[in-house]
Amino acid sequence: MSEKKVRVRFAPSPTGPLHIGGVRTALYNYLFAKKHGGDFILRIEDTDQTRFVPGAEEYIVEALAWVGLKFDEGVHVGGPHAPYRQSERRIVYRQFADRLIENNHAYFAFDTPEELENIKKQHEANKQPFQYGPATRMQMKNSLTLSKDEVAQKIAAGEPYVIRIKIPENEEIIVHDLIRGIVKVQSALLDDKVLFKSDGLPTYHLANVVDDFLMQISHVIRGEEWLPSAPLHVLLYRYLGIENDMPQFAHLPLLLKPDGNGKLSKRDGDRLGFPVFPLQWEDPSSKEISSGYRESGYISEAVVNLLAFLGWNPGTEQELFSMEELIQSFSLERVSKAGAKFDLEKAKWFNHQYLSKKSNAELLEIFKPMFIIKGICSTDDYIECVIGLVKERMIFITDFWEKSSFFFIAPESFDEKSVKDKWKDNSPALLTELAAVFASMPEFTAEKAHDAANIFVQEKQIGMGQAMNALRVAIVGAATGPDMFTMLALLGKEETVRRIDFAVKNVKK
Ligand code: GLU
Repeated sequence: MSEKKVRVRFAPSPTGPLHIGGVRTALYNYLFAKKHGGDFILRIEDTDQTRFVPGAEEYIVEALAWVGLKFDEGVHVGGPHAPYRQSERRIVYRQFADRLIENNHAYFAFDTPEELENIKKQHEANKQPFQYGPATRMQMKNSLTLSKDEVAQKIAAGEPYVIRIKIPENEEIIVHDLIRGIVKVQSALLDDKVLFKSDGLPTYHLANVVDDFLMQISHVIRGEEWLPSAPLHVLLYRYLGIENDMPQFAHLPLLLKPDGNGKLSKRDGDRLGFPVFPLQWEDPSSKEISSGYRESGYISEAVVNLLAFLGWNPGTEQELFSMEELIQSFSLERVSKAGAKFDLEKAKWFNHQYLSKKSNAELLEIFKPMFIIKGICSTDDYIECVIGLVKERMIFITDFWEKSSFFFIAPESFDEKSVKDKWKDNSPALLTELAAVFASMPEFTAEKAHDAANIFVQEKQIGMGQAMNALRVAIVGAATGPDMFTMLALLGKEETVRRIDFAVKNVKK
């Protein structure tokens, strides 16, 4: 048998914003495809129209573009298997459902929702959960229990029906999973799942299998929550007579909450102190906003790196990986079976690493729009210098303004706690004299300002700290900020003197 070309797909349903776990699934698919010179496909699985959420598909495309995943084929790029949106492929699926009926592996079912509800209730009353399957199907209203004529009549009369798979009674179904090994499931545990709905659309199971087959998918890499569906899919490949084209399966471990208690779900929203979505999302009906990694100041390369490590490891000490390096190193063999706990501190560490690695010029491009939004004029050179000073102390892109605003706007008020701790009774007098020293300097560099301050405190017979603490409050507005003299030199002599004057007049203890 010739080796199949590697073709993988990411197949989200547009039922809301993509969860960060979904981004990881897409990433692993991408890494696997690129490592093997294969294709990466985006297919939108929207056959459940009741769960359709406007804007979700656009969100998915934008989020994956943000993290740098490029598709070879898909809804937004086209390709030889277009359309890639299942709702536009509806005519494709029916013939496969018919094939299953013809070879007696599926049947029509006419039970109404009320009838199904009633029988469920009866079973519950007897403490036996109802399952439409081998044990019960012969008591139901379907083409196995009705005569051929009755079935034909009902269909001709336009009575609603679904098509269900006929699960074998007593069979062991084997799923070969590249991560989990051999998974055996007894068919008695499965039910006669609906494959085709009364609205004329297939369900996820049928559409997924048919499209993976038609799109020549070689590997299905998806979240563990789909493992219970895999035996059904294996049966579908067999019953459709396409078993030889069945893709290989790899079910990825769950992403867990930081304490390991349960999976990280969309509902966790911002509750845990970090976003669960790649980009900010506004719910179209409730208008509720959930934060995203992008808007929270994460760098996309850091998000890729941290997601890669949630469920996979390279087997070496190396932690920082570019996309190219991930492609080289990735393998499904090194994906773990155990769930991966989200670790916020580690996520911050990754972001800090990537932020510090960026050049000042690159960060300038990232921060510039903020100056326009805030209506602040400054020169690129000045901003770059400021970036150089604060970069090491930033974790998120969004920290920039908080850590550097005083370089652009002189303080008008002073942090209470800093004043209480650092502003002494003699501070105004000391700083007034120091300002005069600075004002008289012909050249105001960091080094020269430092020397001048040194001489000043020696003459006054006070410690450097005493003068510097108050000076910091005057310059920054609080007891924070980078190296004092570099900061003063950057602000310049006039601005330094002006800020001291203002503080002397306005700081109230
Ligand atoms: N449409 C499914 C989802 O929303 C895809 C599962 C699969 O990859 O087979 O996750």
